[in-house]
Amino acid sequence: MKNMIGLIGHPVAHSKSPVMHNAIFNQMKLPFVYHAFDVKSDELGQAVSGMMALGFKGFNVTIPHKVAVMDYLDEIDEEALVIGAVNTVVSRNGKWVGYNTDGKGFVLSLKTILSKPLQDSNVLIIGAGGAARAIYTSIVKSGVRRIDLANRSIDKAEQLIALNHSHQFSDAFSIDSAADKICEYDIVINATSIGMSPDVEAIPISLHHLKRGTVVSDIIYNPFQTKWLTIAKEKGAIVQNGIGMFVEQGALAFEQWTGLKPDVDLMNEIVTKELGGTKEC
Ligand code: NAP
Repeated sequence: MKNMIGLIGHPVAHSKSPVMHNAIFNQMKLPFVYHAFDVKSDELGQAVSGMMALGFKGFNVTIPHKVAVMDYLDEIDEEALVIGAVNTVVSRNGKWVGYNTDGKGFVLSLKTILSKPLQDSNVLIIGAGGAARAIYTSIVKSGVRRIDLANRSIDKAEQLIALNHSHQFSDAFSIDSAADKICEYDIVINATSIGMSPDVEAIPISLHHLKRGTVVSDIIYNPFQTKWLTIAKEKGAIVQNGIGMFVEQGALAFEQWTGLKPDVDLMNEIVTKELGGTKEC
């Protein structure tokens, strides 16, 4: 019998996780199968205990359950607690243990395009929502010279800095103030949903003052290359879309469930093909 892995969210029909994980389970001849389940908020508790009763090995959690699911878990990893959200759950000795692989996945993906260490870099993150929280927490943990946050609601950015006790190398700004000083950063990350399909003409922050050679990363992958990334590329930036983060967070979850490392390049190829993109971005 195969080990079941679930994905719970609402909606989930668009998710590329099932095709990505099942392809790797097949390639590695592992007795696992991954299936997406559309679970509404008022059915979350039943879904989580149902998966335990049915012997699931683990599951992924996506919008809107990443925070609420924490109430139904037995243990939560320290980094996920600081982030305040869980995207990966593993069954260990009859207990559900929650992790957050989004931030770590982002950092792994970012490192593939950096020419100097994060520890020597000045970073600006746009956003202070769930994804930004994960990315900020993981970058702080991995070590960085300076990391600032810009968000529409500045109070959320300030809370995130307080939560990480990182005032000595972090400040919160409005989007407009950050745009004026964007040339001070080596790495600029969009962790908002601005520019995501169908609102593809919107950009999260002006790149007017961007300096050539800045690393510009947009965690959105639908569209494959956002308008913001296109502008960044035209201004001589080194750009990256959200596929790398998506693949790496999935690879870390895969390791939690199976104890094995998947072929990340193959995962990237599968997701890129599914989204109709090219590997270049
Ligand atoms: P979220 O928790 O809802 O946060 C949304 C963020 O966007 C907040 O900072 C919010 O600002 C900002 N925002 C939204 N609409 C805005 C507007 N009209 N003007 C100004 N700011 C606006 O969402 P999330 O879970 O962090 O996800 C954010 C994006 O990341 C989504 O596009 C998602 O698909 C993507 N994502 C990608 C990956 C990946 O693997 N590549 C993983 C996770 C998420 P306020 O705080 O002021 O509301």
